[in-house]
Amino acid sequence: MQILLTNDDGIYAPGIAALKHTIQDLGQITVVAPDVEQSGVGHSITFSHPLRIREVHLHNEFIGYGVNGSPADCVKLAIYDVVKHKPDVVISGINLGSNVGIHILYSGTVAAAVEAAIMGYPSIAVSFEISEQYTDIQGAASVARRVIELIVTHRLPAGSLLNVNIPSLPPDQIKGIRITRQFAHDFKETFEKRIDPGGKAYYWLKGTNKSVHREEGTDINAINEGYISITPLRYDLTDNNLHKKIEGWDWKGIVS
Ligand code: MN
Repeated sequence: MQILLTNDDGIYAPGIAALKHTIQDLGQITVVAPDVEQSGVGHSITFSHPLRIREVHLHNEFIGYGVNGSPADCVKLAIYDVVKHKPDVVISGINLGSNVGIHILYSGTVAAAVEAAIMGYPSIAVSFEISEQYTDIQGAASVARRVIELIVTHRLPAGSLLNVNIPSLPPDQIKGIRITRQFAHDFKETFEKRIDPGGKAYYWLKGTNKSVHREEGTDINAINEGYISITPLRYDLTDNNLHKKIEGWDWKGIVS
């Protein structure tokens, strides 16, 4: 099996290293990832400056290819000019921090998987909820491996994408798996406003991952209750109900 592995935390991040190490006997793994952290860049692409690919070594060991671009750039470039064989699956992660609800839209981790899906490859985004109580990325990687193995056994259709979120628990305390839908309400996010030494204000976005809403069947609900969340996502953003509705409006006469 040919596996293309990427992420948005960057090629030196512990999540991608843990996952690569844990799944390395599943197939031939090629790592192509941003050379610096690209969390929160969403589905951005680079066209205003040139992209470069460099071989990255850590402790004298070749670990993969670093790209001075976004996660979506990495997937495009990897398939265009790095991998020798087309991947059977593209995996993005493991991200440090969950990617659920509307955060999916900001996520570079998910964007890499979306890019692979657009290009016609089955893909999996894997994220691990961060908490102060439990931070063992190795445990999360062992869980991710079992999930990935089951997914590839079932042969995801080309162009489809699963968003996997692992709760912040030791593997033996995770309650199970829930197939979920994306939570679509707002999170309680604020800015922390501070004053710099020059007397001017500056701001830090403070995400809480908490919402006033609770909804059964959603990705956030699953991880909050100690389950692994798996959400099938699509990138066609068309609102078909609204399409039907506005189609009936009187558009004649706008242009003649
Ligand atoms: Mn990230």
